[in-house]
Amino acid sequence: MSGSVIVLGGGAAGLAAAIAAAEHGCFVTVLERLPRVGKKILLTGNGRCNLGHTGFDFSHYHGSLPQAEGILAGFDTAAYFRKFGLLTRADSEGRLYPMSGTAASVLDALRFAAEQRGVRILCEQQADGLTQTGRNWKVSCGSQVYAADTVILAAGGSAAPNCGTDGNLFPILRKMGYAIQQPRPSLCPVPTDAARVRALKGLRVRAAVSVVSGGKILKNEAGEVQFTDSALSGICVFNLSRLTAESGNRTELMLDLLPDFSAAETEALINELISLRGTLPAGDLLTGILPKRIGEGLVKSAGGSCQLAASDMPADVRRKLCALLKDWRFPVTGTAKFAQAQVTAGGVKGECVTGTLESRLHRGLFFCGELLDLDGDCGGYNLTWCWASGETAGNAAAASASTPKRPPKVSLRDDS
Ligand SMILES: Cc1cc2nc3c(=O)[nH]c(=O)nc-3n(C[C@H](O)[C@H](O)[C@H](O)COP(=O)(O)OP(=O)(O)OC[C@H]3O[C@@H](n4cnc5c(N)ncnc54)[C@H](O)[C@@H]3O)c2cc1C
Repeated sequence: MSGSVIVLGGGAAGLAAAIAAAEHGCFVTVLERLPRVGKKILLTGNGRCNLGHTGFDFSHYHGSLPQAEGILAGFDTAAYFRKFGLLTRADSEGRLYPMSGTAASVLDALRFAAEQRGVRILCEQQADGLTQTGRNWKVSCGSQVYAADTVILAAGGSAAPNCGTDGNLFPILRKMGYAIQQPRPSLCPVPTDAARVRALKGLRVRAAVSVVSGGKILKNEAGEVQFTDSALSGICVFNLSRLTAESGNRTELMLDLLPDFSAAETEALINELISLRGTLPAGDLLTGILPKRIGEGLVKSAGGSCQLAASDMPADVRRKLCALLKDWRFPVTGTAKFAQAQVTAGGVKGECVTGTLESRLHRGLFFCGELLDLDGDCGGYNLTWCWASGETAGNAAAASASTPKRPPKVSLRDDS
């Protein structure tokens, strides 16, 4: 194949798309607004890059893109990177990491693969306009104009704006007629009443966490919860943040600090602890099972005194303490900012693209990555989507670049 392809955005999806298109012999140019490509990749997985997951389960994805299921089902992240000489290893929960243990080697593997295939990378080029004239696409970056047969949009969403992703393409796409699902922060801390958590700042505890609204449990997760000065955080909370953002301030997070104990077993446990260490101040009663400040917070919330001997705890405080260990509520007071979010929920709606991620409105225009209305849970699902969608869009853009153009399509509802 031949033809030219412009990839707009040099992140995970853009690099995967560029490599795929170049593999087919296309002349590929990546336009990246930052001084370097792949800044966000370096931050992923706390610098270790959780680049995929061993199992495929589409229920870990959310959004309006049913086409994604077929694209993801046929994709093998470990095999994909092995082609570039990067080996991976999975942790006990199936999360894939580079064998080197560092995100830098993932970016290096992509950069080398792009370079070997002749991809041209132009940095500090912020695209601000996109036009189709006859068979050609033109992308303007200030006074510079770049032309190509096809364009792949891989500019990401609005999360982590310090990585070049501030949603700047959405207004341009809206003007071009694309339907955009309102972008919202996802995989982020959940803000709560600061007065309730400030004293717990910096603590971590394992818990089952539920989103509760109107007395109903909407979703559960389990794992380590971290307390910040005004929010609950941690992977399990991140996975609930999409839902709390959608449900607004009517929701609460409910922590079960003893998920392996029934209510009766919890009561028996408290009685056992009082018989074993009842002479200790009540604030120390739970130090054998929880961090001290959490135990103190629970005793206070139950209406008890941390200084009095645990065995002198009134029966109603003891009952309340047992109840709190199984059901500790934190009101959701808002939504985190994009700067605190790992991904964007929302973006270009699935109805705008075909199964190969080509636009239904404009021939020769393709989409991939977080720009589209698909977001995954924590666990490598988001990067998997970037590699898989980038490869799909790159392959399809290469095919389109080397075939004569048909007239552009005009209706979102045209399914052919
Ligand atoms: C701190 C953090 C940790 C994460 N950890 C993980 C993890 O371990 N595993 C996982 O699966 N996911 C993780 N994610 C999510 C994952 O990194 C993203 O979903 C993914 O990187 C999105 O890739 P993308 O290529 O779609 O967009 P991005 O990587 O955001 O890249 C888009 C690129 O486009 C450029 N750009 C934007 N507008 C323009 C323009 N107008 N012109 C030119 N260039 C433009 C940007 O500068 C950017 O380089 C994490 C995210 C963050 C923020």
